[in-house]
Amino acid sequence: MRVWAVANQKGGVGKTTSVVALGGLLAESGKRVLVADLDPHGSLTSWFGYDPDRLEHSAFDLFQHKGKVPEGLPAQLLVETSCKGMSLLPASTALATLERKMVGVEGMGLIISRTLAQLWDDFDYVLLDNTPSLGVLMVNALAASQRLVLPVQTEFLAMKGLERMLNTLQMIMRSRNNPLPYTIVPTLFDRRTQASTQSLNALRKTYGDDVWRFAIPVDTKFRDASEAGLVPSMHSPDTHGVRAYRRLLDDLLIQTGGRE
Ligand code: ADP
Ligand code: MG
Repeated sequence: MRVWAVANQKGGVGKTTSVVALGGLLAESGKRVLVADLDPHGSLTSWFGYDPDRLEHSAFDLFQHKGKVPEGLPAQLLVETSCKGMSLLPASTALATLERKMVGVEGMGLIISRTLAQLWDDFDYVLLDNTPSLGVLMVNALAASQRLVLPVQTEFLAMKGLERMLNTLQMIMRSRNNPLPYTIVPTLFDRRTQASTQSLNALRKTYGDDVWRFAIPVDTKFRDASEAGLVPSMHSPDTHGVRAYRRLLDDLLIQTGGRE
């Protein structure tokens, strides 16, 4: 099982879209994929037609057992998506109350690792969607991951949020035994605007090879796909946005040695 976190401490940068797009492409290539919604807003959950305000069972349940994950619970929480081969661990808005409840509970940062350990034989790839705030959920995601995908919107001030995220990462890394390699993915790129081109150049200048060699362009089909409840490659397989995610996935697979 390979586990990738998609995270950034900024909202609206394309995290959820990247999870669905990459997950859909992995499923299309025959991989068994789990996408997990670790954001109390539940955008990933809503994408597939589930209402995070009304779900009785969700990722929240995993955090209700004093840092342990009862045998069999993870599998019970998974739901189907419109994409064949892709399951969802949904979020409910109750996740927003975790921060308060989990303080000081032993093992609280390892809930997602323990959850995935139980699903190890069931999935080839797990993509973890994250909330923008650094808290118990993001700590869990980063602890469980072997790779971080860091979408950054190509706009003025993009670097500011990125710096914050990388500092956070350093902090969390100190409690990990092994480093967490990451790929910065420029998103919402619009070649006609100066803001996009300038921030892309600045990103490359500052972060060099940590930045993916291309960028995900602005593509309105992504919103249409989310409204239709479909992964982008099912909704409109050959738009420039989907083509860019295909290239990104290829590169990530090469970087992570997952290209079979
Ligand atoms: P995050 O999860 O980081 O908050 P989302 O993936 O939800 O970001 O994207 C924020 C908004 O931008 C959504 O409305 C989404 O449809 C839109 N969006 C994301 N990526 C693109 C893109 N490449 N082109 C056009 N719109 C996009
Ligand atoms: Mg999101």
